[in-house]
Amino acid sequence: MDLARLRNLGIAAHIDAGKTTVTERILNLCGVERRVGRVDEGTATMDWMAEERERGITITAAATRVRWADHDLNVIDTPGHVDFTVEVERCMRVLDGAVLVLDAVAGVQAQSETVWRQMARHGVPCIAFVNKCDKTGADPLAAAETLATRLGARPLPIQYPIFEDGVFTGVVDLVSRKALFFHADGSLRDGEVPAGLWDEAEVLRAEMVDTLAEEDEELLGAVLDDLEPEVATLQSALRARTLTGELVPVLFGAALRGIGIQPLLDAILTALPSPLDRPPVVGHDPITGAELPPRGPDPGGSLTTLAFKLHAGAHGDLTFVRIYAGTLKSGMKLWNPRSRRMERPPTLRRIHADHGVDLDEAVAGDIVALTGCKQTVTGDTLCDRAEPIALEPLTFPEPVVALVVEPVSADDRDKLRVALDRLAHEDPSFRVRENTNTGQWTIEGMGELHLEVQLHRLEQEFRLTPRVGQPRVSYRESLVGGGRGAAEVDRTMGGSRIFGSVEVELVPEPGEQAPAIVWAEGGERIPPEFRPAVEEALATESGSGPRFGFPLVGGQIRVVGGGSSEGADAEAAFAQAATQALRIALESAEIALLEPQMTFEIESPEEFSSGIIADLGSRRAEVSEVRAEGPKRILVGTVPLLEMFGYATAVRSLSQGRADHVLKPAGYTRVPEAELEVRGLIWS
Ligand code: GDP
Repeated sequence: MDLARLRNLGIAAHIDAGKTTVTERILNLCGVERRVGRVDEGTATMDWMAEERERGITITAAATRVRWADHDLNVIDTPGHVDFTVEVERCMRVLDGAVLVLDAVAGVQAQSETVWRQMARHGVPCIAFVNKCDKTGADPLAAAETLATRLGARPLPIQYPIFEDGVFTGVVDLVSRKALFFHADGSLRDGEVPAGLWDEAEVLRAEMVDTLAEEDEELLGAVLDDLEPEVATLQSALRARTLTGELVPVLFGAALRGIGIQPLLDAILTALPSPLDRPPVVGHDPITGAELPPRGPDPGGSLTTLAFKLHAGAHGDLTFVRIYAGTLKSGMKLWNPRSRRMERPPTLRRIHADHGVDLDEAVAGDIVALTGCKQTVTGDTLCDRAEPIALEPLTFPEPVVALVVEPVSADDRDKLRVALDRLAHEDPSFRVRENTNTGQWTIEGMGELHLEVQLHRLEQEFRLTPRVGQPRVSYRESLVGGGRGAAEVDRTMGGSRIFGSVEVELVPEPGEQAPAIVWAEGGERIPPEFRPAVEEALATESGSGPRFGFPLVGGQIRVVGGGSSEGADAEAAFAQAATQALRIALESAEIALLEPQMTFEIESPEEFSSGIIADLGSRRAEVSEVRAEGPKRILVGTVPLLEMFGYATAVRSLSQGRADHVLKPAGYTRVPEAELEVRGLIWS
C-alpha cells in the first residue's frame, strides 16, 4: 500500500454543527451509500446504535473506509456531545488529521473549543469546514474568524463563499481561481466567478498568497516578481504549514444541500497528513519501563498496534486497532503486554459503514478491526511477543455522575452483572461497582446523558430494565495526611505453607486519578515476580475509600517494605498482605471528601441573561465572564455538579428554550466537613 495515499481522518464538531451530515455526504460521494442518510430521519449509516438514532446524536465512534481520487480514507466519526469527550479523545490518539465542522452562524462553539484543545494536545493538524452557509443569518467569513478570536488559531480561507441574490450557491476556489457551483443533488459544475464577487475574492486570494509566501522562498520570489504562482506551489506551501499546525485552511459549504463536499475531500488529500507525515510512536519496555527506540510506519518493522475502540455489535465483537509499525496478518498471534496473554484474533477486517471485508494483512499506518480478542481492552498495546512494547495507555478522566441500579428479580441478577461488565469493558469512562452487601450496583459516567444512554443499551441490547436510583455526583476520597501500615500473611493453605509480607506508606498529594503505586526503597525485599500481584491488590483496595467507600484519588501508595520466605512465597499471600497493609495505613490517614466541579458556558439571548445569572447564583456558581457576542451573551464560570442536575430543563424555562449550555468536568474540590451531615453522608 502507498502510505502517502492514506488519510486517517476524524470529523469533529460541536453538536448540531452538521458533522453527521458531512460524514454521510462524504460516504455518499465516495460511493458507499446509495442514498444519503439524513439525521432527521434517523437513517445515518454511521450511527450504528438504535439509541443514537433516537437522539440524533452520534455517540460511538465508528471507523469506515472509503476511496476518493486514488486515495484511501479511514473516516472516524467522533461524537459531538460533551458527555462523550472521552470518545473524541481516544480517536485523537490514532488519527493523523481532522476536519473541524463549524456552524456558519455560530462559528466556534464550546465543544469545538474542547475538541480543538484535544487536537492541539495530540498534535493533530486540521482543516475547518464552515457548514450551514445556506442558513439565514450565516456569515461564513465571520464564522471563520472565530477560529482566531476564540481559539487563537490562524485561519486561512482557501475559498470565497458565493451568494447569488442572497442564496448560497457555491464557492470560489482561491487556489485555482475557479468558481464551483453545486446542483441540488450535490453534483458539481465549474464556472466563472460572478462579476460582482471578483474583487472581493481577489483581495482574499492575495491575502492567502501572502500568508503562504511568508515561509516559502519560491512563492515569495514569485510574489515579489509579480508572477502568478503555480497551483502546485501554493498547494505544497499550504500542506507544509497545515501539517505544522500553524495554519488552519478554511472551506465553506452546506452539507445538507451537498455544497462544498468534493472540494473538502480534495483539501483533505492536499492539506492533511498521511501516516508518513506523523512522528514515529514512542513506547516502553513492558518489563523494565525503559523507553524504546521510536517505531515508524515501516511494514517490515516490529509489529506495534494500539487497540483504541471496542465495539460489540451486529458484526460481532470488534477491536479497532491502529497499526504503528509492522504488518498485521490474519490469524497471527498477538502479545498483550498488559494482560500478559496472547490474543489469537481469527480475522482481520476492514470495516465499512454497513459491512466488513476480511483481509489477509494490513500494514503500518492503517486502521483495521480484529474479531475475537478476549482479553484486550481500550488502550492496550498488541505487539510481537519477541519484541514487546507498551504504548502509552489512553488516560480517561474520572466519571462525575453515579447511579444505583438493582435487578428487578433474582433471575436478572446474573444477566445484569454480565451486561454491565460488558458495557464497562467497551467504555473505560463508564465504571461499574458491585456492592455485595446491598445487592446493588453503582454505575458511574461522564454525565447524565452518558448514563441514560447506557441504561437504554441495557434495555435495547440486553433486554434488562433494572430499578434505577436518582443520579448523584461521584464523590472521591482523598488523602489529607499520611499513613503507614504493614501486614504479614503466613499460614497454611491446602496443606502447604504460604507467605507474603508488605509494608506501605501513604503520601498525600493533590490529584484526581487513582493514587500512584510507587516502589520505594525497601520494596525490593518483595521478590519481583510477586510485585504485579501486590500492585493489583493495592489498586483494587484503593477503589473504595476508608471513610465513605468512594474511590480514593491523588497521592502515592509507596511500597516501603516487605519480606520473603524462601519456598513459601505465594502470590495470594502477597496480595492479601498488601490489602491488609493498605487498610491499616488508611485507618491512620486523614481523609477528605471531594466533589466534582464543572465549568459552564451558557449562550443566551441578552434578554434572558440576567435571569440565568440570578439562578446560577442560587446554585453556588461563580460566574467569571460575561461576554457580548452580537445579540448574545456568553456566560462562563464554575459550579459544583451537584447543583446542576436537571439544569437542561431549568435553563430551558428561563430562556424560552433559546439558551444553549455546555458543562465540562473541571476537577474536584473539597466538601467542607460541615456540609457532610447536611448531605446525609454522615450521621452523628
Ligand atoms: P451533528 O450533531 O454535528 O452530527 O449534526 P447533524 O449532521 O446531525 O446536523 C444537525 C442538524 O443540522 C440536522 O437537522 C441537519 O439536517 C442540519 N444541517 C446539517 N447540515 C446543514 C446545512 O448545511 N444547512 C442547514 N441548513 N442545515 C444543516
